[in-house]
Amino acid sequence: MNNDLRTTTDHHGCVTDAAQPSHGRSLAYLADVPIDAVKDIGPRKAKRLTEAGIGSVAALLLHAPRRYLDRSQLFDLSSVPLGEEVTVGGVVRSVSRRRISKNRVMIEATIGDGTSTLKAVWFNPYLKVDQGEEIALSGKAELFRGRLQMKAPDLDRLDDEESLVTGRIVPVHPRVGGLTPRQLRAAVDNALKRSRPIAEVVPTEILSRLGLAGRDESIANIHFPTGRADADRARDRLIFDEFFRIEVALALRKWRQGLQARGANHVIDGELVDQFLGALPYRLTAAQERVIGEIRDDLAGDHPMHRLLQGEVGSGKTVVALCTLLMAVQGGFQGAIMAPTEVLAEQHFLSTVDALEAADLAPGGGPDQGGTENLFAGETGPSVRVALLTAHRAITNFSGSVDRSTVHGWTADGTIDIAIGTHALIQEGVQFAQLGIAAVDEQHRFGVHQRVKLRDKSSDHDPDLLIMTATPIPRTLSMTLYGDLDVSVLDEMPPGRMPVTTAHVPKEAEELERVYDRVRDEVAAGRQVFVVCPLVDDSAKLEVKSATAEYERLRSVYPDLRLGLLHGQMRPADKESVMHRFRAGELDVLVATTVIEVGIDVPNATMMVIEDADRFGLSQLHQLRGRVGRGEHPSVCLLIAEPSTTDAEERIAAMVATTDGFRLAEEDMRIRGQGTVFGARQSGLTDLRLADLLRDVEVLVAARREAFALARSDPELHHHPDLVDEVQALLGDDAEWLERS
Ligand code: ADP
Ligand code: MG
Repeated sequence: MNNDLRTTTDHHGCVTDAAQPSHGRSLAYLADVPIDAVKDIGPRKAKRLTEAGIGSVAALLLHAPRRYLDRSQLFDLSSVPLGEEVTVGGVVRSVSRRRISKNRVMIEATIGDGTSTLKAVWFNPYLKVDQGEEIALSGKAELFRGRLQMKAPDLDRLDDEESLVTGRIVPVHPRVGGLTPRQLRAAVDNALKRSRPIAEVVPTEILSRLGLAGRDESIANIHFPTGRADADRARDRLIFDEFFRIEVALALRKWRQGLQARGANHVIDGELVDQFLGALPYRLTAAQERVIGEIRDDLAGDHPMHRLLQGEVGSGKTVVALCTLLMAVQGGFQGAIMAPTEVLAEQHFLSTVDALEAADLAPGGGPDQGGTENLFAGETGPSVRVALLTAHRAITNFSGSVDRSTVHGWTADGTIDIAIGTHALIQEGVQFAQLGIAAVDEQHRFGVHQRVKLRDKSSDHDPDLLIMTATPIPRTLSMTLYGDLDVSVLDEMPPGRMPVTTAHVPKEAEELERVYDRVRDEVAAGRQVFVVCPLVDDSAKLEVKSATAEYERLRSVYPDLRLGLLHGQMRPADKESVMHRFRAGELDVLVATTVIEVGIDVPNATMMVIEDADRFGLSQLHQLRGRVGRGEHPSVCLLIAEPSTTDAEERIAAMVATTDGFRLAEEDMRIRGQGTVFGARQSGLTDLRLADLLRDVEVLVAARREAFALARSDPELHHHPDLVDEVQALLGDDAEWLERS
């Protein structure tokens, strides 16, 4: 690779498709030019920048300013407008620091510019500001006791070269690699001069349809705008680009794994499904009917299904999944369902076996006893053989507990119709004779790679995939994380569900006393209670210890009640026996770790007590609360917490305020920041620097529409090689999944 920017004009000219003229250097090309090609970036700075994620010229050009100091609009302190975002500057006249409570420090600085003075106040103990420094403050000015004041303004230190008289808009880049804003500014300036013009890779029809500025102009203006409007237009364009890259990647992936692949030939209408549905003790909700219809349509098509089923906890996803698997079975294929935990896999196994029995679809004997079945010819109809396979055990509905290797043999030779399990199901050694459909429960714990692995389990066709999640995902996030999937939503709860009341209980002796009383009342009324133990930082061992200790403690609080303990390190048989006793109503209180987080369905459990609830994440709390409110009785969720951070306070407040999972998911994203939500690394979300999944919904929707439309007319984007290059170059590791074809 030639790294000298000066000699590479039109480097990409030779590969550019006629349909998309492009002049200049592409970002994909600049992503290959190491950062030390930039003037004044020597090996040491280059190393630090690279470690901070800015290893190439492209990365530097996309390192957008955090804000601008509008020196063209600098106000004298004597004439600052009140209540508006402004930048003012001056010399620090005095600084004082005061401790105002245990962990709060107040810093006050007074600046003067010759026309007046202004007092700035911060509550940030780490903030450094010294008397005599020349600084700029950006924020809202207000009058407080007759004096000009700014609360927690952004502070920028100015060095000589940048004194406030320059009268232009100066970008302030986020500090990175130990470079000062001034050094970054110089580096960007140099990189820009030597890289421009930057090639356009997005088709011009799309840009004009959406009224977006050009690439070259936008990258220049994001750094050095001549006015606020320029900067805003540049930002709009770059936000679009960030979403567009992800959506193009998804559109390509969808085509590669979906439209290109062959699906199994399913029998959509058959007696198994009818018999199964006919025997259900309830009527399907309209939402369940609709989703089953959507799945049928997918299965009837030539290409494999890739569908995400979203539904609030308790909305009845399991029955939809079972029904889907039976569609595979009635056509002679096998079905598999994967759950994130053993406890949940066991529960799926039990409920599947029960439902099949109720529908008269349970097999009569072992696989080698076909002759026996024939003796009853005429009496026995079709039956469905089900196996549970986890890392520890294997059990079937026709031959009881068996060796895991036996089940391996039976999945490989087609004896087993439906295999239920954990990750063990996709581990090496498990082969299916004819895997038709795979359902994955609680998708957020399954990565893209596992999805791919499941697909590899079948040779002449790709299995259909149904991915379920009860972790509601904001619409924008599902469009990016799971954007290659079609989405069905179970937006209706089965009738008769009672609301769950949620309360925050402070960690104080009398309050806890009242919790104990309420638990007792609940049990006295014939109901059951979950007590979830505190999370212990990253240590399964310590967590077990604390759960065990809590269990012992509660045993002395409730000597008369029947308590059970459930944690992840118990032997599978013990776990199963505890769950069995709780389900059967033989236990009043189940003390548990978060192993009960997902899926557990015990309608008679009506109280959920979560200890140290402030230590749990919002989606986890929502999942835990979803364990109650599943029956005909009203339920309560008590969050014992003493939140010590604002985030924790906000999480608890959000839980008390709403049970709507979608609202909570958005809250979660707001509190935590989009980058940290849900395996972001696998999703291209790390590429979102300027874009905000909550604020920029409309841009995302447009980017998605355009990307998918483009891919519809040109599925592999043969006519847009520059665009494909860019997606691959800039999504980096995130685009790993793209390379599979
Ligand atoms: P989730 O969507 O959280 O996985 P489940 O599939 O576990 O929910 O269903 C929750 C409970 O609702 C189960 O006890 C299930 O039997 C019951 N259920 C599912 N569909 C219906 C329905 N249409 N009417 C009544 N109860 C239903
Ligand atoms: Mg479920």
